[in-house]
Amino acid sequence: MKDLDIQKLTSIVGKQNITQNPADLLIYATDAAQIKGTARAILWPETTGEISQIIAYANKKDIQITPRGAGTSLTAGAVPQDSIIIDLSKMDKITQETKDTITVEAGTILDDLNTYLAPKNLYFPVIPSSDTVATIGGMLATDAAGTRAIKYGKTSAWTEEIELVTGKGSIIKTKDIHEFAATEGILCIITKATLKLTTLPKQTSITTYEFSTAEQLTEKVKQLKKDKSISAIEYLDPLTSALQEKDNKYHLFIEYENNTGTHKTREEIETAWKQRKGLAPVLSAAGYPKIEDPLIPEKNIAPFLNWLKDQKIPNFGHIGYGIIHCRLKQDHDLDEFYTQVKNHKGQVSGEHGIGLTKKQYIPQTLKEELKKKKQKYDPKNILNRGKMI
Ligand SMILES: Cc1cc2nc3c(=O)[nH]c(=O)nc-3n(C[C@H](O)[C@H](O)[C@H](O)COP(=O)(O)OP(=O)(O)OC[C@H]3O[C@@H](n4cnc5c(N)ncnc54)[C@H](O)[C@@H]3O)c2cc1C
Repeated sequence: MKDLDIQKLTSIVGKQNITQNPADLLIYATDAAQIKGTARAILWPETTGEISQIIAYANKKDIQITPRGAGTSLTAGAVPQDSIIIDLSKMDKITQETKDTITVEAGTILDDLNTYLAPKNLYFPVIPSSDTVATIGGMLATDAAGTRAIKYGKTSAWTEEIELVTGKGSIIKTKDIHEFAATEGILCIITKATLKLTTLPKQTSITTYEFSTAEQLTEKVKQLKKDKSISAIEYLDPLTSALQEKDNKYHLFIEYENNTGTHKTREEIETAWKQRKGLAPVLSAAGYPKIEDPLIPEKNIAPFLNWLKDQKIPNFGHIGYGIIHCRLKQDHDLDEFYTQVKNHKGQVSGEHGIGLTKKQYIPQTLKEELKKKKQKYDPKNILNRGKMI
């Protein structure tokens, strides 16, 4: 284990922004994936320049760094590997605004941003279910999606420019978002983002449907995807429905950004969404604590759902976008699961990322591409070592 010069790090961030307190190290040893690592110190930088200096020091001393937003990663992406943690939560300022963009520091929490924008009738429309805590930096690093991905796509699609510090310590501003989005803190630490905004919909409404078979469900989804006023197409499978005390069928939830849907009042809409949301505790309590999020092409969704049904794997998710959230038992054989994802021509992750838990399942071509970028931006392998590749 390399020596850590705490005095040097303290001189960069100030003594109020660094800790090695054992209780703090324990809390930061894990994230939402609940896999335990080892943190050596936690740093809360307040400027991009400080992050650059920390990375320069880490390069000299071969110290590993784990970037962290809110720690909601479901793939252990923010779990330290005998590393120091750079927590972005003190970098949460708005630095610039135009009539339809806003520039924020990477530790800004999405929900705080949208609360700030609401009186201006604006919002950032990519909303993962973790929005009350997830940060803009974490969302860009995983290229987060969410219920409205069918209409609005992923975080990168709504980002105009980012500022970042590479693994070499260089500060860069770039509009080439795709070079760095979804690279999970292995190439750079994102410090600022200029985000595109849209106006809040004047009205939303919801329609729900029930189907007996996966074929009926997917046929309806295919048909509905042609309607551009739809902002969400979500579903529950029969097993999840039964655990939610609903009929043992496929349930489909359609959100319109107009009054086409049958549930129109705020109360009706909230009641309908309640059936789809808040599933994690119900499924965990029923013995399915693990979540996987493959992205399955439209034509293979019905056969994949039938395989899940045969295996008694509860599932739900953003079916309009192809993201199928599968809940597995703790000891479920992931090799078999990802063989099936591959057989159905699916991708390993639709939105949660790769992190530590899925890296053995990503295609060789993606691994090679990431390795090349790693060599370019973080040749000494300082940032998030062991994640993704
Ligand atoms: C209850 C729950 C619901 C969720 N729902 C969704 C959903 O609907 N859609 C979805 O896409 N995801 C979802 N997620 C997954 C997760 O919340 C998202 O990926 C989120 O965007 C991560 O944000 P964060 O700030 O918590 O990042 P963290 O979990 O702290 O970090 C995620 C990854 O990004 C890296 N990272 C963090 N900040 C930076 C930065 N500034 N620069 C470089 N790298 C960085 C970390 O090292 C890590 O690899 C959910 C998670 C939970 C627990």
